[in-house]
Amino acid sequence: MTQFTNPSPELRARVALEKHGFHTSHSLGQNFLLDGAFLSALLDAADVGPDDRVLEIGPGPGLMTALLAARCQRVLAVEVDRGLEPVLHDVLQGMENAEVRFEDILKSDLKALMGEEPYRVVANLPYYITADVLLRLTTAPNPPESIAIMVQKEAADRITSSPGGKSWCALAATVQSYGAAEALADVPPEYFSPPPHVMSRFLLIRRHPDPVVTPADYALYLRVINAAFAMRRKTLLNNIKAAFHMDAETAGQVLEAAGIDPRVRGEALPLEALARLSDVIGERI
Ligand code: SAM
Repeated sequence: MTQFTNPSPELRARVALEKHGFHTSHSLGQNFLLDGAFLSALLDAADVGPDDRVLEIGPGPGLMTALLAARCQRVLAVEVDRGLEPVLHDVLQGMENAEVRFEDILKSDLKALMGEEPYRVVANLPYYITADVLLRLTTAPNPPESIAIMVQKEAADRITSSPGGKSWCALAATVQSYGAAEALADVPPEYFSPPPHVMSRFLLIRRHPDPVVTPADYALYLRVINAAFAMRRKTLLNNIKAAFHMDAETAGQVLEAAGIDPRVRGEALPLEALARLSDVIGERI
């Protein structure tokens, strides 16, 4: 006779949600992924392996967390909703290499969480915090080796856009300064419970092995990116004037020294030009 002793993580998650009468919160963007085979396929594509330490953001009921624990060295999951504690406890029971912290990732200290050792991020998060989370991760003092993240399809289009295109924006420039973004899968609403009203795309952003830009002051470079895209209908000259409190003449000189046409709009600027501009501004302020 066969003894069955180990229900799948998918079954555990479904049973734990029901047992604890968990109700998803719309305001916390709780659209869960409860298909184990589908999540395993996403993780295969996300390139996370046995040597990896993983930071999972927003574990929800913990199905993805359990699958990560089975294939990685260690997974630390950061969840803001304490109401999920009993569910996560049931689903991750016995998994020594999985740990959950209950805190808001937007307030977390990434250095305290993950230390100096390499780590990867996996996240299916509310879409209204996609940009904030990506900005924090990609500009952290200890940035991850890669970020596999589910985002709204329109956000994916922006993040993977190129300079000169309609979608090129501060988020794309910041993320692409950190790494190369690749679309792994389009995910229709019916894969989520409850289904969202939008199409989703699973992205893998791999950190550049060598920096693609080397501005003298990275914090200033990030400020210049934000300034360049601050008001999309204004010229770069006007945006730089406003952001760095310069008169038109000085702003014009700065752009000339950086080899940039003052009439250009931020959307047209490649990363190298933004880095040059940041270095020239750095010499003047
Ligand atoms: N990863 C799970 C899945 O795929 O089924 C859950 C995904 S659900 C879209 C997003 C999760 O992120 C929820 O569990 C939610 O409570 C959590 N969350 C929302 N805001 C958060 C924040 N600021 N910090 C950490 N977790 C957050």
